[in-house]
Amino acid sequence: RLHLRRKHKTLITTMSTSSEHQTHLVLENYIGGKFVACGDSIDSYDPSTGQVYCSVPDSGQDEVNAAVAAAKEAFPDWSSRSPEQRAQVLNKLADLIEANLDEFAQAESKDQGKTLAFARTVDIPRSVHNFRFFASSVLHHTNDSTQMDHMGCLNYTVRSPVGVAGLISPWNLPLYLLTWKIAPAVAAGNTVVAKPSEMTSVTAWMMCKLMQEAGVPPGVINIVFGSGPKAGDTLVGHPDVPLVSFTGSTATAQRITERSAPYCKKLSLELGGKNPALIFADADLEQCVATTVRSSFSNQGEICLCTSRVYVERSIYPQFLEKFVAAARKWKTGAPSDPGSNNGALISKEHLEKVRSFVALARSEGATVHCGEGVDRLELPAQHAGGYFLPATVLTGVADSSRVMQEEIFGPVVCVSPFDTEEEAVARGNNVRFGLGAVVWSRDVGRVHRVAGRIQAGLVWTNCWLIRDLNLPFGGMKSSGTGREGGRDSYHFFTEVKTICVKH
Ligand code: NAD
Repeated sequence: RLHLRRKHKTLITTMSTSSEHQTHLVLENYIGGKFVACGDSIDSYDPSTGQVYCSVPDSGQDEVNAAVAAAKEAFPDWSSRSPEQRAQVLNKLADLIEANLDEFAQAESKDQGKTLAFARTVDIPRSVHNFRFFASSVLHHTNDSTQMDHMGCLNYTVRSPVGVAGLISPWNLPLYLLTWKIAPAVAAGNTVVAKPSEMTSVTAWMMCKLMQEAGVPPGVINIVFGSGPKAGDTLVGHPDVPLVSFTGSTATAQRITERSAPYCKKLSLELGGKNPALIFADADLEQCVATTVRSSFSNQGEICLCTSRVYVERSIYPQFLEKFVAAARKWKTGAPSDPGSNNGALISKEHLEKVRSFVALARSEGATVHCGEGVDRLELPAQHAGGYFLPATVLTGVADSSRVMQEEIFGPVVCVSPFDTEEEAVARGNNVRFGLGAVVWSRDVGRVHRVAGRIQAGLVWTNCWLIRDLNLPFGGMKSSGTGREGGRDSYHFFTEVKTICVKH
């Protein structure tokens, strides 16, 4: 690892030196094992300053077609390698990213607005782990077999990679979510064309610089940068891409579903949430307040699993609210590089305005804003004056029917409301079109299991948040998605199963 670190100091230094000669970084597509320039480009901003950070290829049909062709050509060789051989390549790529962890974290923070600490401890380590996890997990899958002695037959299943996988990821956890798709797809023997969000492309491009040394054969992992409606739409509609794994908004998923329909493509859709926390009077209040602040505001509230609605049993509601607002006020929004900051900047000016508009709507409907937007002033260093910051905001008095309670805000804004019975808490928790994550707080073991069983969400945490075994299914119900990802589920998605019947 030390050896790798020394060596890759050069790689990252070269990159930053070139950026000194230009006003900002200029990214290129990675197709067939080569960097390829693109005529058109999109500016991408550092959300903490509002300044252009890099220019991203605005890829269209030519670039996507070239990437799919390269992936198609690489498929026969890659899919015929053993899982161990493929795992070796993925593990090497993981080692190389890890050896450059700090540079990756700095770039992720600058590109996305998140704190450097979050990128260092969550985004990049998890990207490394994604490769290691799927390299290993793919080795442990077994097939089914059954005997039909009365028919003189043996049945068994085999699984084969599907072909060229189209992978599309959002901006909130850029490299983390991109590698969550690339790793299982490639480990299972597919080749891929991946498109990260046009707003956060830098770490994917940095990873491309390590592919050759990792031994990724040309064409196995292709990265095409660009906008959703242009590059993304072309990728989804490409006839040689039989499966698409998408993480992003429900609105985009609807478009992707329509675009895939003529080909009946295999789709995995990981979408938005409006996640409730149900807090019962017997909960450990201190722990519950501390965790709910974290679950509501981590990564600026820009995690699909962040808590958005907090329902608290009426007998502890005043106590909870007082402690919760006090803790939210201490959740510091500041310079992403400052180790004292809990939150950095939101992704874009448009997103900041959207989040603000939800707070304004709540106010106009008679809600109380206890802290944050419009209440607390942010003190930011001068270089961040043009950044897109919004402090942790707590609302009460918002009706369940309000858009503020029904739509995904995807920012550091949370609504708190009292309830009287378990029945009511479950009904209100389920009263949205989403069903991604939920948290239940109670010391009553019976209630914990009862409520967890009745809440409509793909993931339910009780007395904790965000702890995850990657072997287990991840995904949402209702408008939060279709399909599941994670150990066996990712393997099943990225392979086709065949049943074979052999007459003795
Ligand atoms: P988005 O849907 O706007 O974009 C996601 C990706 O899709 C981007 O790469 C974008 O360029 C691309 N895209 C946009 N239009 C497209 C089209 N017509 N065809 C193909 N691709 C297209 O989402 P976002 O704003 O980047 O991300 C935020 C959303 O992602 C939130 O709703 C959040 O909840 C969700 N999310 C879900 C999960 C999960 O695992 N369930 C995880 C993270 C984020």
